[in-house]
Amino acid sequence: MLLNNLKHIYGRMSHAAMRAGRCPGEVRLIAVSKNVGADVLKNAVDIGIRDFGENRLQEAGPKIASIGKAFAESKVVWHLIGHLQKNKAKTAVRLFDLIHSVDSPELAALIDRYAGETGKTQRILLQVKLSDEESKYGIVRDAVAGAVRQISLMKNLRLEGLMTVPPYIEDPEKVRPFFIELRSIRDLLRSDGYNINELSMGMSHDFEVAVEEGATMVRVGTALFGQRNKEAL
Ligand SMILES: *Cc1c(COP(=O)(O)O)cnc(C)c1O
Repeated sequence: MLLNNLKHIYGRMSHAAMRAGRCPGEVRLIAVSKNVGADVLKNAVDIGIRDFGENRLQEAGPKIASIGKAFAESKVVWHLIGHLQKNKAKTAVRLFDLIHSVDSPELAALIDRYAGETGKTQRILLQVKLSDEESKYGIVRDAVAGAVRQISLMKNLRLEGLMTVPPYIEDPEKVRPFFIELRSIRDLLRSDGYNINELSMGMSHDFEVAVEEGATMVRVGTALFGQRNKEAL
């Protein structure tokens, strides 16, 4: 079941990449494991998945510990994809390899401080908000350049790219403009000399369009693990 889903998703990702003239190897699948138990997670590691996305620290903590124990040798990479409250920044630095949801320079400054205290260079992405209907969180387009300028001075952070959660629209073609916009913001930053490359965009129902538009990471939950209990979201 899980293996079949994984093969199917990799197939769709590869085709989407090739349609856009991209190399399929440029796109990383982040398995969104929120509401998925540690047992299923272990199966996922067994079949080769190494990148997991979680959105709540409380839920992620025990799972990260349990997977860490069971697979001490495999390098599992943990992605924080949900909103991060400032008072939890310290825990996030301890738990996660890549924080996708940095949505203000103030939050970045806190992460920088805690990373410095533990001698870590924290990898982060900046969450960008591209419309009023979408997720409440994220930096608005006009504030991105300023935020990047500030964050790029923080010594214990490595800003690797941008992330967005577009409004939920059933038809993935209608989501395409959001993906194009995120890419164009990244390209502008690159032309300003910032070395940022990652685009974290695309979920179960629209990841192919995201890959066509340049996603380097897609965050897929439902298509991989099946429908989960939405109440727990
Ligand atoms: C849950 C979640 C996903 C995955 O959504 P699916 O539709 O289950 O693939 C991706 N990104 C974020 C930020 C999420 O919270």
